Amino acid sequence: MKRILSLLLVCLLLCGCTAADVKPERKTYEATFLSLFDTVTVIKGAAETKEAFSEAAYAVHDELLQYHQLFDIYNDYDGIHNLKTVNDQAGIAPVEVDRKIIDLLLDCKTYYELSDGKVNVALGSVLYLWHEARNEGINDPVNARLPDMNRLQEASLHTGFDTVIIDEEHSTVYISDPDVRLDVGAVAKGWSVQRVADSAPEGLLISVGGNVCATGPKDENNTPWVIGIQNPGGSDYLHTVYVSKTSVVTSGDYQRCFAVDGKLYHHIIDPETLFPSTYWRSVTIICDDSGLADALSTALFLLPLEEGQKLLDDCGAEAMWVDADANQYYSPGFKALIRT
Ligand code: AMP
Ligand code: MG
Repeated sequence: MKRILSLLLVCLLLCGCTAADVKPERKTYEATFLSLFDTVTVIKGAAETKEAFSEAAYAVHDELLQYHQLFDIYNDYDGIHNLKTVNDQAGIAPVEVDRKIIDLLLDCKTYYELSDGKVNVALGSVLYLWHEARNEGINDPVNARLPDMNRLQEASLHTGFDTVIIDEEHSTVYISDPDVRLDVGAVAKGWSVQRVADSAPEGLLISVGGNVCATGPKDENNTPWVIGIQNPGGSDYLHTVYVSKTSVVTSGDYQRCFAVDGKLYHHIIDPETLFPSTYWRSVTIICDDSGLADALSTALFLLPLEEGQKLLDDCGAEAMWVDADANQYYSPGFKALIRT
């Protein structure tokens, strides 16, 4: 219900000059939605009229909303079997799901194998304890506390991806361990954005909480989009990069964090320590596939430089890492994509 209300509050900001002249001129417009994936979605693109752009932006929004509802693990929606349904039925029964859930989970299996288990969407029971501690800590900072280590360790016994049984033929998912839970937060935004971008008009820039994907250059002159890479230690940009038909995805310790006794704890959890990873402050990936980019941003955040670079080589992607001392490291092809 909360989500339905927030959808009603969706905010569409249309800006750009109005064409007063006879011949319609293409102008760049921008729409902002607040109802998707618990974050801010911005869609930009050139169009001859505000109405034409608005139609394209709403079509993208509506498609993203389907993914948002299917991959939601906290809310039920009438008539939809989503990942919450799958989690609720763990150890009880297989759940018939939309093909989009099957496709996502099959890709998650690939990401799990590629990252040697670091990106594990079956880590939900552990992530839930962090989610709970974070929400409580944000609502009541004075009494903020870390998740109990015994509970984390107990939860970590129930994180096997092999308990997630995907039956493509019958389009069902069954979690055979009643205590395993799925949480696809590491990949769902980028994966959904890629799916939507694949059928969206050319020349749109879709950003869902910093998962940015361009479906083609800005205009007929092949002008690229310019994307800022946030400084994890401030509100400025470290660099801007040119993007025409690719994705830029960042994982950072400044997103979804909370403080306990003056120390910040973020949301990307190392499956071995069960604590937030400390290698990096942020990792930015540039990669043609936004789903892979999202998986890689989380994976590289959980890996030392050399292992991350090896993974990039296997996937044909570029990255920029920022550490706690503000040192920046780049994969070999990244610098060529930097504008400033
Ligand atoms: P991202 O910002 O793309 O790096 O994704 C972070 C989100 O992924 C978190 O908010 C959790 O929902 C989830 N997550 C955190 N750690 C892991 C992990 N090791 N494996 C899979 N998902 C994770
Ligand atoms: Mg990610």
